[in-house]
Amino acid sequence: MPRSKSLRGLGAKYGGTVRKRYTNVHRLLKAKKECPSCASLKLKRVSSGIWSCRSCGFTIAGGAYDVSQTRKG
Ligand SMILES: [Zn+2]
Repeated sequence: MPRSKSLRGLGAKYGGTVRKRYTNVHRLLKAKKECPSCASLKLKRVSSGIWSCRSCGFTIAGGAYDVSQTRKG
């Protein structure tokens, strides 16, 4: 019985540190990103490090899990 429906995939596997990191990454992936070109929130990750806007087709290289490449932890 899963405790949280929003975070599937890892379950009770791995340690707490990994799960925390996964949660962080997951939140970043799900978060809405603003397109630097048309300012709509349709920016989506196409593949690792590549972000594309569904609205105007603008493609940008960024971090693997976020558009900005700031890494915390
Ligand atoms: Zn755009």
